[in-house]
Amino acid sequence: SFPAEVVPQAPEDPLFGLMRAYKADPSPNKVDLGIGAYRDDNAKPWVLPVVKKADEIVRNDPEANHEYLPIAGLASLTSKAAELVFGASSPALAEKRVASVQAISGTGALHLGALFLAKFYKIAGANRTVYLSNPTWANHHQIFTNVGLPIASYPYFDKSTRGLDFEGMKATLRDAPDGSIVVLHACAHNPTGVDPSPEQWAELAQLLKEKRHFPFFDTAYQGFASGDLDRDASSIRLFVEAGFELVVAQSFAKNFGLYGQRAGCFHYVAAPAPSAAETTTRVASQLAILQRSEISNPPIYGAKIASIVLNDPALFAEWQDNLRTMSGRIIDMRKQLRSKLEELGTPGTWNHITDQIGMFSFTGLTEPQVLKLREEYHIYMTKNGRISMAGLNSRNVEYVAKAVDKVVR
Ligand code: PMP
Repeated sequence: SFPAEVVPQAPEDPLFGLMRAYKADPSPNKVDLGIGAYRDDNAKPWVLPVVKKADEIVRNDPEANHEYLPIAGLASLTSKAAELVFGASSPALAEKRVASVQAISGTGALHLGALFLAKFYKIAGANRTVYLSNPTWANHHQIFTNVGLPIASYPYFDKSTRGLDFEGMKATLRDAPDGSIVVLHACAHNPTGVDPSPEQWAELAQLLKEKRHFPFFDTAYQGFASGDLDRDASSIRLFVEAGFELVVAQSFAKNFGLYGQRAGCFHYVAAPAPSAAETTTRVASQLAILQRSEISNPPIYGAKIASIVLNDPALFAEWQDNLRTMSGRIIDMRKQLRSKLEELGTPGTWNHITDQIGMFSFTGLTEPQVLKLREEYHIYMTKNGRISMAGLNSRNVEYVAKAVDKVVR
């Protein structure tokens, strides 16, 4: 059998451990600000009304069956998913420079992309090190390390301003060897909630171009951050317009509320060149081989739901409405938390709560403060002081503000 020196006991995933501790807490006051899943004002998971409708359509389809999807997934989903990210009128799509493969949500798309780069990013001028923001979604480290790519980090969060450390980020990306892989969160950066401004994105595009870095976009919150699908995709579109060869890992977990259905896509975009369409075809053929050996073919149910919504103009409009409901509630919670802390005169500044965007806020609370909130107030958040805004609602936001006020003093 495997001895402990060979297979040591691994620590529990911190986030799932936190979730377990929350579930086991009998306190009626408990608040879950840990896991990144949307909750409605009653602290309940929200099945998007448009997803319910699409689900009905799937279930009532007399032709429906449980056959395999093709290796690259449901074509009616992947084509619309590409339009969603790049824009329906993107020259990259018209010029057939995009290869799209359905994946096991965002994580699977990241893995497929990582695997592809591990196998093929061996071309002249390529540096195989993957640069991740510090901090980043913890799973990024594991996903890229698992496929044998070396990882490094670039500064991202400025603790003093609780905003972007733009100078630090640029300096590291400038000093990195040419042709490095740079992972960028398209919007609603996890865990900080801090995004570059449009001007900063433009500067980053220029810097990455000069350095011939390879952008790897992770988009897990399109439409969920600002409520506007185009706006949340603008960073990626800017890079595509700038003529980059790049890849995108796209998740439908948050914006469709399809977490457990594992719906997502991986996209490869070739740089504009006479041979771009041919390059894209070759890349697609290799992605298919990787996909076949990894998962054979992707899951069908969530893909059908997302495809129905993306292909029907009326349902698409309703989806946009649902997105505004989710993003609007989160933005409202940001405002309420900030104003309650300011009313209480809680030491420190709290503008970052409303400056940050998306699912998470990096509060600046220290680990001892976080643990005190957990032990004394039954408020659960990750040790780095990140809170999931969706865990707040009209009934608990005041309780949370008062508890934060107590532990900060
Ligand atoms: N990237 C980021 C930054 C995320 O926050 C998440 C979700 N926590 C994902 C990717 C992927 O999630 P999923 O595999 O559920 O789509």
